Amino acid sequence: MGFTKKLTDGLLAIGELFFPSVCVSCGTHLFKNEVEICKMCIRRLPRTYFEKRPHENQISILMWGRCRIELAFALFFYRKGERVQHLLYEIKYRGNKQLGEVLGKQLGNNIMKSGYTTIDVIIPIPLHPKKMAKRGYNQAEVIAQGMAKVLGIRVDVSSVIRNIHTPSQTRKGRFERWQNVEDIFTIIDDRAIRDKHILLVDDVITTGSTMEACVNQLTTINGVKVSVASIACAHL
Ligand SMILES: [Zn+2]
Repeated sequence: MGFTKKLTDGLLAIGELFFPSVCVSCGTHLFKNEVEICKMCIRRLPRTYFEKRPHENQISILMWGRCRIELAFALFFYRKGERVQHLLYEIKYRGNKQLGEVLGKQLGNNIMKSGYTTIDVIIPIPLHPKKMAKRGYNQAEVIAQGMAKVLGIRVDVSSVIRNIHTPSQTRKGRFERWQNVEDIFTIIDDRAIRDKHILLVDDVITTGSTMEACVNQLTTINGVKVSVASIACAHL
């Protein structure tokens, strides 16, 4: 162990004495092997168990007839005002990347357990460049990185981009609105994803319209198959 590493570990240990890590969900002190959230809280969150039926679950039914997806995964059900929403808020707006990675790893483990390991590449749903500049990071990418560590699959953040779109969608007609949604994403490197099974990742799936737009763009490329995964999925 190098001196710097020893020093860092020492400082971290001292920091832990004065500011012990607590669970973001319940506030109790964390054990050494727990990061950001305690095991008890994880166990109490409303699991979807979608990994047991990735071909047919609430997400695949939600997307049915709108876009072509292979498998769908989500860790938890999400309801407004409940603990899962609080966790998503931590990841998205409070800069808690570590929590994003922890939950991403958990999601990756679930996918691994499901036995479906034909995925070639993970693509996080890209953020709008302005939002990215303001927030400094993409929460979907943080989650994807956690998943990649468990699954051993690379994360691609350069082949798909999110376009700038006008926020005043309500004034537009139905067709224009639809067109607007379709144009949210652009594939800039189709060679990188051709003939690949892509796992598209987002923090939450609510109406499914963002996923739908992205999946429909991706499946225009030859031989592309798309599966989707999120930390949470709205309880319909
Ligand atoms: Zn807790």
